[in-house]
Amino acid sequence: MIKAYFDNAATTPLDPQVIEVMQEILFQHYGNASSIHAPGRKARSIIEEARKIVAKEIKASVGEVFFTGSATESNNTILHGAVKDLGVKTIITSPIEHDCILERTEVEHKDGCEVIMIEVNDQGQLDLSILENEIQKAKTRGGVLVSLMHANNEIGTIFPIEKIGELCKKHAVFFHTDTVQSMGKLEIDVQKMNVHFLSGSAHKFHGPKGVGFFYMRSDAMIKPMIVGGAQERNMRSGTENVAGIAGLAKALQIYSANRAAYCDKMLQLRNYFESQILEKMPVVSINGFSNPERMPHISSVSFPGTDKADLLVLNLDIKGVCVSSGSACSAGIEQDSHVLQAIGHDPHRKTIRFSFSHFNTKEEIDYTIDTLKSLM
Ligand code: PLP
Repeated sequence: MIKAYFDNAATTPLDPQVIEVMQEILFQHYGNASSIHAPGRKARSIIEEARKIVAKEIKASVGEVFFTGSATESNNTILHGAVKDLGVKTIITSPIEHDCILERTEVEHKDGCEVIMIEVNDQGQLDLSILENEIQKAKTRGGVLVSLMHANNEIGTIFPIEKIGELCKKHAVFFHTDTVQSMGKLEIDVQKMNVHFLSGSAHKFHGPKGVGFFYMRSDAMIKPMIVGGAQERNMRSGTENVAGIAGLAKALQIYSANRAAYCDKMLQLRNYFESQILEKMPVVSINGFSNPERMPHISSVSFPGTDKADLLVLNLDIKGVCVSSGSACSAGIEQDSHVLQAIGHDPHRKTIRFSFSHFNTKEEIDYTIDTLKSLM
């Protein structure tokens, strides 16, 4: 039985209002949006309405929003397309990006694209003068794409996207940002951010799984990665997930309308959690704690490396507390995740990510802290 779901950076429960919208579509508006009959036209109008909502929320034009099956797909499409269609010879990124960015850059690298990693410090911060220097050097080799995430999914730290956008504009290079962890929670304005591309995913803001989107500025048109039926104005073939798309738009609309209240609630919960854990378990440390730019929903906590700490995620699960481990198992050996490695985290310590939503309560935190104390 779930006593406390603190894995909202992995995925969030559906908002009941989103379920309502999706249920109606699944039952009643099941037409294929490419069909010309009335149910098909209805499905098409639902998708176009959703596109308008998303475009409005991120301050884009309607024609610049494309729905996909996930942010993983969006990110792959953008990075691959930039190299293939826009003459990009260098991708500049960071070692704390999501695996779908890092693995895509590896593929592009194997195909001859240069990949430059801008290191981060122990608080997950970038040095923008190093970034600018690397942009200038990379430009001598040809087209450049800077791909830097808005908010990190493991430690919650935020990159200064508007400043990075200014740099990219100054040097006339392409800019992509992965806004999966910030979408809904932070204000997104593609104009102010100066981005050419941006990606998002519904299931991180109480929408359904298996639906994402990307923004592509009209002066940076790439070609599709998935071809076939020419859906999404030929940018992404495949019969549209109508209910999922409508669910994404509804979830984003609800989140944005309640942004201040939701974020305030999460910030209070996170601050309460961190003050409690630091007071009751002074041996812990919080990754990225000194970074003033941190998301309200993520707390990455490191415990001294003991046998008990190694089993914490499992034992918390037995007690009904759902969290994520900050380590990955590689060849049977547990290692710090690539993000923790990049911030120079002590690999002997065991890290757990607690991630919150506005549906969580103070009582759940009290229960979790008590449980943690009993397990250590
Ligand atoms: N980017 C970031 C920062 C993420 O946190 C995630 C999911 O955890 C993704 C991309 C991938 O999103 P999706 O689950 O939609 O493929």
